[in-house]
Amino acid sequence: MIEFLSLIIGSVALTRFVMFPETMDEESRAIISEHISFYNYLSDTDKRYFEHRVLKFIDNHNFIGREKVEITLKMKLLIAATAIMLTFGMRRYLFPQFKNIVIYPKNYFSTVTKMEHKGETNPKYGTIVFSWDNFLEGIRIEDNNLNLGLHELTHALHFTFLRHKSFTAVVFLDHFKTLLEKLKDRQLQRKIINSGYLRHYAFKNQYEFLSVLVEHFFETPKEFNQKLPEIYEMVKLMLNLDTLKITSGEQRMVART
Ligand SMILES: [Zn+2]
Repeated sequence: MIEFLSLIIGSVALTRFVMFPETMDEESRAIISEHISFYNYLSDTDKRYFEHRVLKFIDNHNFIGREKVEITLKMKLLIAATAIMLTFGMRRYLFPQFKNIVIYPKNYFSTVTKMEHKGETNPKYGTIVFSWDNFLEGIRIEDNNLNLGLHELTHALHFTFLRHKSFTAVVFLDHFKTLLEKLKDRQLQRKIINSGYLRHYAFKNQYEFLSVLVEHFFETPKEFNQKLPEIYEMVKLMLNLDTLKITSGEQRMVART
């Protein structure tokens, strides 16, 4: 009976219902508002959902500083806010597979790849790694399509969905599969290359392609939709979010599925 009920009302009422929402203090709110433009476009109701999710995200992850990094409230808030921005159209917003978020001060040498890194996502160790200067640079310049936080968190989200086939995961993966099918079309391939819009790194493999698309989707949605509308549409379906509408003030409330 409970299962039956949740099937009926699950997609409508429960997506928005929060039993005991956590309230964010003014200092934290100001930090998010100063650094994350996406948040400022949201309606007051959505801002409260956003804040609640940020606090839950912080509660559910371990933040670990390396090479003398002392974890600050700002670090936690901005990393959590980036994750919540990415998953704002979804009902699930935690990354249970990636409990640990490790922060280095700047580029670091990875013992796994034996190379210098700005960040990495390691499913084996359940860890997402950021260099703080590069993370900050990613959110400071909001329209150059480089956002380390979004990039690594998209990898983490993708890995999580490949492991746990929730409804949200199936929607995400199905649309991604359709997108990859569309990309077999030579005409579309030529269009992407000729547009010069996506940086070359996107074509390394399908994981990097996805992360780079998401960076563009949040940073320059208008240009994305003008230059590659068929791909913009697929990212929109995958994330259940329309950044173009949100940032133009057309979409007042975000429906989460
Ligand atoms: Zn990557």
